[in-house]
Parts: sequence; C-alpha cells; structure tokens
Amino acid sequence: MTFKSLGLSAPLLQAVQKKKYTVPSPIQEKAIPVILEGKDILASAQTGTGKTAGFTLPLLQRITEQSRWKRRPLRALVLTPTRELAAQVYENVQEYSLFTDIRSTVIFGGVNANPQIKTLKQGVDVLVATPGRLLDLHGQKALSLSKIEILVLDEADRMLDMGFLRDIKKIIGLLPAQRQNLLFSATFSKEIRALAHNILKDPVSVETAPENTAAERVEQQIYRVDKNRKTDLTAKLISEGDWHQVLVFTRTKHGANRLSKKLEKKGISSAAIHGDKSQNARTKALAGFKDNSIRVLVATDIAARGLDIPLLPHVINYELPNVPEDYVHRIGRTGRAGAEGEAISLVSLDEVEYLRGIEKLLGEKLPHNTAEGFELTETKESVKEAKEKAQQNRTRRKSRKTDGSLDSRKTGSKKRTFPKSRNGRVSSRR
Ligand code: ADP
Ligand code: MG
Repeated sequence: MTFKSLGLSAPLLQAVQKKKYTVPSPIQEKAIPVILEGKDILASAQTGTGKTAGFTLPLLQRITEQSRWKRRPLRALVLTPTRELAAQVYENVQEYSLFTDIRSTVIFGGVNANPQIKTLKQGVDVLVATPGRLLDLHGQKALSLSKIEILVLDEADRMLDMGFLRDIKKIIGLLPAQRQNLLFSATFSKEIRALAHNILKDPVSVETAPENTAAERVEQQIYRVDKNRKTDLTAKLISEGDWHQVLVFTRTKHGANRLSKKLEKKGISSAAIHGDKSQNARTKALAGFKDNSIRVLVATDIAARGLDIPLLPHVINYELPNVPEDYVHRIGRTGRAGAEGEAISLVSLDEVEYLRGIEKLLGEKLPHNTAEGFELTETKESVKEAKEKAQQNRTRRKSRKTDGSLDSRKTGSKKRTFPKSRNGRVSSRR
C-alpha cells in the first residue's frame, strides 16, 4: 500500500515524501480513504501510530477540493485537549500543507491572545485550538465558526477526562449543522461512544489494535519498592542504566516539582512540566528535553498527554496512575513509530490496587524486577500505621479549628493539607 493509492493529491504526496514516510501506517490506510469520501469517522489506534497525518492529510485535500472563498473563513477546526498537543498538531499541519496554499494557525491559552487575533484576521483555513481559548476568542468576536466544513476531535478520550464536554458541546453549537466530523482517540470508553453517538452522523468505525492495548514494542517492568525509596531508585536506574531522555510520571504537580528538584540535587538535569507551569516554562522544558540538554522530564498525565517525542527510550512511572487507561497513554510515550522502548513502574504497597486495575485492563500480568538494596520492606501494618498517623494529624488539625484556634496554615506551620476525595484517597491534582 502506498500513500498514492490512498487517493492523496500530488502536493500532499510531496509533503509525505519530505517527511520520509514510505508507507502509510495501518490507521492511515484505513482512515484516509473514508475521510476523503467525506464520511464521518470514529477512529481508534494505539498512540504513536500516526493518527495526526491520518486526519490531517485527507482534511487538507478535502478543503482544497471544496469551493474557494475570497476572504478565507475558517473551514476546518481541530480541537485538542492540551496546549502542547495543539502546538504539535499545528506543526504537523504546517508540514503536510507545505506544498498547498492552505493557511493554518494555532490558538491556545496561557499566552498573549493578541498575536493570535491578528493572525486570524488575516484569513486562515485550518485552525488548531484548545477549547478554552477558542470559546474565549469566539466570545470576543475574533473568529467565526459559521463556515466550518470539517471538525476534528483529537485525543477525544482525554478531552472528556479533562472535563471539556461542556465546552465541546458549546463549540458544536456554533458550527454549521452540515459538516464532516472526525473523532480520534487512543482508547474507546463508554463515554467516548456516547459522545460519538451525539456528534457523528453514520460514522465509519475504524480500529487498528484491540481496544486498550499497550504499545506492543514496549517492554514493561514493575519494581515493588518502599514509597520513601522511590527517588533513590529512580536516580539509580537513570545513572546506572546511563539513560538519557527519560520521561517520569508523577501523580501530582507538587510531586513533579519535588522529584525534579531532588534529581537535580543528585546531578541529574531535570525539569517538571504540569498545568501550574507557565506556557513559556512548559515550552522551554519540552525544548530542552528534545535537544538533550535536559535528561529527565518529570510530568503529570495531563501535561504529557499527546506529546510526540520521537524514539523516547525510557518511561518511568514514579507513581501509578489511579485511572488504568492513563497507564496505556503513559507508556505510549515510548516505543513510538515502531521504535523499541522500556516502561518501568515503581509500585509501593499502597498502589497495589492500581496495579491490579492496570493488569485487568491489559489482560496480562506485568513482569516484576528487583533492584539490589531496594527490596520492599513496607508491610500492610506499616502502611496502615502511616495512614493512621496522617489521619490523626488531620483530626488534630480539624479539632484545633473547631476550638476556634487558627488553621495550621495560618499559624505558619509547614504541614501540608491535601484535598481529599470521597473515597479517602488523596486526590490527584494534575
Ligand atoms: P498518534 O497521534 O497516533 O499518537 P502521531 O501522529 O503523533 O501519533 O505520530 C507519531 C510519529 O510517527 C510522528 O513522529 C510522525 O511523524 C510519525 N509518523 C506518522 N506517520 C508515519 C508514517 N506513515 N511512516 C513513518 N512515520 C510516521
Ligand atoms: Mg495523536
């Protein structure tokens, strides 16, 4: 199978050639002809299998084929859940449209809107956007969505996880009823199917891997280790393995900062990337990581979602995610586009439940490994004791409050209070 036989036009084939893609990936093979026919699509494929080109190439062809407008209204809209992903998809759109006369741009929050507004005024055919900034600029009448012919929801599953459902619905309300809808996702959940049912018209369903499978070429390993030894083990694995370009996941923003600082202290260059960092800091950290000036990028799930770092060899789950699907996404950061990768998870006793959930989703037991000097010493009792102690501290603080005395934060105590979720776990602040 070649890109040409999929029905792509010469300027797009030229761009594909420039990217040195020789054959279409399985999802591209299936999705491109369907989209070229103008049909709605519900597509799922593993991370790193080229979904971006899978929707961008036929999208570009469709809008060049359709009627031309003098004033270049927005005709295609690609929504992504994160700023990094928006920037990355835009980069791809630019590359794939290099030999066409299509104009594209990207808008997302966290940066000055004025340059974005200015570019939009000059006329743009394809817009890549995050939902928040799109609605914001629409509210300011800086853009109109009334001529949109194609809507793409990229990483639709994560959009829902991130609570974008209301925004998506609002945006859809601003689009013409007659349009083509493309929904791409790495995993298919019940929620995704429900969303698809509401948005898509007679969609063609396209799937290339069994649902929710982990990237095949990724070697996965579990290290059972005490919670308080995780930082040392992480440093040891990185130093002794002489690993460069390591992506490490933590569950919280605070945890990401803390780990990054500790690694720096141990002489391992590192940066944290998460939702509380400014867009500049995020862009800088990612650039440093890509050009190898930063060895370790510590990230929360949301920040890391959708990043394309080619040939990333190592991923460490410093903590397991409490949503099993996130595990699949995390390890999808390695072994991209056919390269081999390694994903290591550090699992303390209190995370065993999460591990079970992940193994259930994957339908397999993950292999265990041990590092000398890092054998598990935690016991159910010691974990329980630590939990109880924490609980006691909380109760003490609470009773102090009801006494009419000041809250610990106001009295200047350094003790940190985490918001609790209903099931009693510390909620993940991503
Ligand atoms: P996904 O969205 O499925 O996670 P991406 O679209 O980000 O994956 O693509 C992952 C990587 O594969 C990118 O670096 C991209 O340039 C590359 N890629 C895409 N299509 C092909 C292809 N047909 N042949 C080789 N590499 C490709
Ligand atoms: Mg993608």
